[in-house]
Amino acid sequence: MGYLIAGNWKMNGSRGSAISLASGLVARANAAQMQLPGIVLCPPGPLLPTVISAISGSAIAAGGQDCHAKDKGAHTGDTSASLLADIGCRYVIVGHSERRADHGETDAAVRAKAEAALKAGLIPIICVGETDAERDRGGTDAVVTRQIKGSIPAGVTAGAIVVAYEPVWAIGTGRTATSGDIASVHALIRKVFGGEVSVLYGGSVKGNNAAEILAIPGVSGALVGGASLDLDDFWRIVEACPHGK
Ligand code: PEP
Repeated sequence: MGYLIAGNWKMNGSRGSAISLASGLVARANAAQMQLPGIVLCPPGPLLPTVISAISGSAIAAGGQDCHAKDKGAHTGDTSASLLADIGCRYVIVGHSERRADHGETDAAVRAKAEAALKAGLIPIICVGETDAERDRGGTDAVVTRQIKGSIPAGVTAGAIVVAYEPVWAIGTGRTATSGDIASVHALIRKVFGGEVSVLYGGSVKGNNAAEILAIPGVSGALVGGASLDLDDFWRIVEACPHGK
C-alpha cells in the first residue's frame, strides 16, 4: 500500500493560482529523484478542467471535493460522480466534516455518494472524525465506529476506497492529534472495516509536522487543507513520505 497525499483546496483559488500551483507541482514531480507517493489535487469544481489540463501526462491525479449520489437529474448546483470521472478525475472526497456540518450530510448520505463514486469508477476518499465535544466526552471511538459502519458501502474491497481520519477539532486549527491517538484510531478504523484499507490522517498537516505524522504506524498518507495551497509547504509534505512502504 503506497502513500497518498491529497490536497483539498476547499473554496480557494483562481484560474491563475490553480495553473501556477498545479504546474509548479508537476515540475517538482518531474524533477524528483525520490519515489513519489500518490498525489491528488482536489480544487473547487470550476477549476478542475484547468488543473486536469495542467497535470496532464504527469503522475499527479485530480479529484472532486464532493459528488451527488444520483447520476443525473434535477439537482441544481450539484455534480455527479460520473461527470467527475468523465472530465478526468480519479478520486472524489465524500463526507468531509465541512460538508457534514454545512450541508447536514448523514452517514447514509455519505455512503450513497461513495457508492455513486465507485459506480463511476472513482476512488472515494471517505472522511470520518469526531468533534471537540465528542472527544471531550470520550466518544471518539464510538463516533468513528458509527461513521465507518454507516459511511462505507457494504462489501467494498479495501483497495477500492481510501478513508481519511480527520478529527474535526484539528482541521484548520493548527492543533493535531497525538501520535498515540492517531495510531489507535487508524487501527480502530481497519478493525471496524475488517481489512487493510488505506487510511489518511488529516488536520493541520504542514511541512513542519508531516514527517512525524506520516511515520506513525498505520498512517497511509495525508489529506491536507490549508498547506495544500502553498507549493513549498505541500511539496515538503510530499517529500516527508517515508520511502519504500
Ligand atoms: C481538510 O480540510 O481536510 C484539512 C485537513 O484541513 P487543514 O489541513 O487545513 O487542517
